[in-house]
Amino acid sequence: MIHYQLRCEAGHEFDGWFRDSEGFESQAAGGLVACPSCGSVEVNRALMAPSIPRKGRELVVSPEPPPADALPPGPQTAGGALPDAVRAALQKLREEVEKNCDYVGADFAEEARRIHYGEAAPRGIYGESSEEEAEELAEDGIAFARIPWAPRNDS
Ligand SMILES: [Zn+2]
Repeated sequence: MIHYQLRCEAGHEFDGWFRDSEGFESQAAGGLVACPSCGSVEVNRALMAPSIPRKGRELVVSPEPPPADALPPGPQTAGGALPDAVRAALQKLREEVEKNCDYVGADFAEEARRIHYGEAAPRGIYGESSEEEAEELAEDGIAFARIPWAPRNDS
């Protein structure tokens, strides 16, 4: 016996068992092989496809972590009118950062990378970076945080 995957003119696929390939040819030619779905006798052997699961070919593994901006945004305030408590907390945060970290200005991304790879003394730093630089740091797995920078007390 020989097994064929068959397809009718309407595209229905079904299985057929025949004595041999000539058995199929003669039965099909004689109109003896009918589609079980629509009864059509216009039946041909379907092309045999390699047995690769469809899903398997579409599987994509993304090694990249989700971008930082995929995180839910924090609460926002508008108009520059920060509540006093928030303003005070941010000023305190700024003081702590300024006291404990080195200011590296626009070199922040470069310096953060040097520290990450052991090329510079490990320490806390702060400074400015562009959106692009921040994204690159996040992609490299370098830990940093963006904090709102409160105006100084004396300004
Ligand atoms: Zn059919």
